[in-house]
Amino acid sequence: MNYILGIDIGTGSTKAVAVDYTGKAFHTEQVSYPLIVPQEDYREQDPEVIWQAFIKVITLSVQQHKAWPAAIALSSAMHSLLLVDEHGKPLTRMITWADNRSADIAAALKNSTEGEILYRQTGTPVHAMSPLCKIAWFAQQQPDLFAAAHKFISIKEYIWYNLFGVYEVDHSIASATGLFDILTLTWSPQALRFAGITSELLSTPVDTSHTRTGVTTAVSQQWGLSEPVPFLIGASDGCCANLGSFAVEPGVAALTIGTSGAIRVASKHPVYNFGAMTFNYRLKEDTFICGGPINNGGIALKWYIQNLLGKELKTAADYDAILHSIDSIPAGAAGLVFLPYLLGERAPLWSSDACGTFFGMHADHRQEHFTKALLEGITMSLYHISQCIEESGLAIQQVNVSGGFVKSEAWVQLLADVFGKPIGLLGSEDASAIGAAFLALVKLNIVDSVRQLLPETTKIYIPNTDKHAIYRNMIFPLFRNLTHTLALNMSVLADLKKEAL
Ligand code: ADP
Repeated sequence: MNYILGIDIGTGSTKAVAVDYTGKAFHTEQVSYPLIVPQEDYREQDPEVIWQAFIKVITLSVQQHKAWPAAIALSSAMHSLLLVDEHGKPLTRMITWADNRSADIAAALKNSTEGEILYRQTGTPVHAMSPLCKIAWFAQQQPDLFAAAHKFISIKEYIWYNLFGVYEVDHSIASATGLFDILTLTWSPQALRFAGITSELLSTPVDTSHTRTGVTTAVSQQWGLSEPVPFLIGASDGCCANLGSFAVEPGVAALTIGTSGAIRVASKHPVYNFGAMTFNYRLKEDTFICGGPINNGGIALKWYIQNLLGKELKTAADYDAILHSIDSIPAGAAGLVFLPYLLGERAPLWSSDACGTFFGMHADHRQEHFTKALLEGITMSLYHISQCIEESGLAIQQVNVSGGFVKSEAWVQLLADVFGKPIGLLGSEDASAIGAAFLALVKLNIVDSVRQLLPETTKIYIPNTDKHAIYRNMIFPLFRNLTHTLALNMSVLADLKKEAL
């Protein structure tokens, strides 16, 4: 049968999703791999393990379907960095987005005028996650390795090099490096100066629809590949997720709550907010994906259930047993507000010192109030980012959702009530891999545009206007105010915690 294979090279696993010519996903292969934590603040992965996972998911998919796909399209996690020698062999492990070793470099840059200039030029938040700060860290802390590097690349470039023997990077992944000028589509001279490198040490930027056939002999022998399968370089997981969630028209946002979370809106031009440091990643010509990520998505609920309630989480029923009560608790949890920053926070605070807080506790509050406040807090942190985006001039009319939280109808309805917008559930759990496959369907002229792939049935959750008024007029102003007022005190506590641990 005719199909496209969308591959998402993620932090926890690589997935291959088979997508038919109507855009429907019908089979997934997945290979997981570990995160390596050699010391505090370091979060690394083995690039060779990821390469083998990539080979394996494709092999398994082809065995399953007994035929090669019409094209293979790639999505991958953003902000990764590895140093390679002149033979393409890694000199370091792959340093993931979650690695915080360059925090001091990022903090100093953020507090300078150069930080704001680079934020505007590159679309990337000034943060330790960005390859810009990571390369500057190597220059300062590991000068020998830095000098030995032939190229500074992401995991997707490593895989592309293994496939074709060339260093190319799509505009989408490049726009998440902090080194790429998102308007001129060239490496930014100012960012290169900051990182201490020249553009020869980076890959050649190419469009997200760029396609190559003819993998290296070593790879074709490993696969027993006789036919020339086209590989489409694709985009980042965030940009692909917008495509896979049908959120590429202006005004439609894609919102994900999995372990972490994010909200992203398509725009024809970049939208800047240096305070909240929302990003502008380039999907394709005239389409930027603007938004912000949160650290504390479903992981905050998991922490609450396991550590505060002391309960086990094995099946969906374990979540249902706790979440079923939230419908009976009024909006605002009877005066209980939760700030969810258990793991520090990325947008819009960008602070590793931020911490979690229940505010307004009263002897009348029961466990159900805490559960409701907790879900409201996680949801409110994404609403906070959406407000920053809208204040920057980008209106949001509808929010399409994905991620583990969609298993709870009550939580999705709560999201509708907090946002005061219709919420679309399109059932695209693997939105990034599917979005990559959509790019290939357009490139191969199987469809004219992604809009043609929109499923006929979309479940829409409609907000309750009374509840939304409470969230908009009372809870959100309090949430925002508490976040700002407590920031200084959170830093004092963070110092105490560092000394104690
Ligand atoms: P990942 O980001 O690791 O891929 P998922 O998208 O699978 O994660 O989402 C995991 C999160 O989804 C969990 O941390 C939890 O908060 C939430 N979740 C999982 N199952 C349910 C459920 N049945 N009801 C509500 N929330 C759930």
